[in-house]
Amino acid sequence: MQKKERYEAFVDYFSKHQPQAETELHYTNPFELLIAVILSAQCTDKRINQVTPKLFERFPTPESLAAATSDEVFSYIRSVSYPNNKAKHLVGMANVLLNEFHGEVPSDINDLQKMPGVGRKTANVIASVIFNAPAMAVDTHVFRVSNRLGLTTAAKTPLAVEKQLVKYLPQDKIHIAHHWLILHGRYICLARSPKCEICPISHFCKYDEKQNTAAALKKKEAAELKKQQQKAQKLKKDKIAKELKKRAVK
Ligand code: SF4
Repeated sequence: MQKKERYEAFVDYFSKHQPQAETELHYTNPFELLIAVILSAQCTDKRINQVTPKLFERFPTPESLAAATSDEVFSYIRSVSYPNNKAKHLVGMANVLLNEFHGEVPSDINDLQKMPGVGRKTANVIASVIFNAPAMAVDTHVFRVSNRLGLTTAAKTPLAVEKQLVKYLPQDKIHIAHHWLILHGRYICLARSPKCEICPISHFCKYDEKQNTAAALKKKEAAELKKQQQKAQKLKKDKIAKELKKRAVK
C-alpha cells in the first residue's frame, strides 16, 4: 500500500466511525482549555479533570489567576505532575494573556508560545481545538500511532512527525486527526502492548511489517556477528598451527 492510500484509508475509517472525536479534557471556554492543556503535560487527562473544577471556580478569569500567588495555585494542583513549575506557569501565562493579549487567548501559534508553559504542542492543541486551525499537536500517542501505522517514515522528532502528518492529511481533517490518533493510542494502540487483535485498522497498519523487518535485521546482524567470530577463531587457530609447525622444524 502506498503512503497516499494509507492516509486515505486512515481518514476514511475515522471519518466514518469517529466523526465527532474531541479532547477528553473538560473546559467551557478557551481560557480554561489553555489551563487544562498546560496542566496536562506529562499527566493524564483524567487526573487533570479531577483538579480543574475547583481551580476554574477559584480562578475563573485571567485577572483572578494573574493576581494569585503560585503557592495558592499550587494548593489546587498538587496532585498533578510537576505542580511547582505548572503553578508558576499558570500565573505567568495569565499575566502575559492580560498584558499582551487583552485577556483573550490568541489563535496564532507564535503568539501562544509567548506564554509560560506553552510550547509548540500546547499551542497546536489550542489552535486546533479552539480555532479549528490545521495544526497537529504531536504527543506521545500521536508520535507512536502514526509511526506504527506507517503514516510517518523515519520521523525521529515530534516536529518531523508534525510536518509529515500536516503534509499528507487533507487540510480540513488535520485538527480532528489529532484526536483520532490520540484516542486510538490511548485505548487500542497502547504503548507496551497494542491490541492489534481487536484493532479495526490493522489491515492497513505497518506495525507487523516493521516488527518483522526489525526481527529479520536483528537475525541478519546476529548471523553476521557469528560469521565474524568464527573467522577470527579460525585465523587464531591457523596462526597457532603455523607457529607450532615453525617450532617443530627448528
Ligand atoms: S494494528 Fe496494532 S500497531 Fe497497528 S494501529 Fe492497530 S493496535 Fe496499533
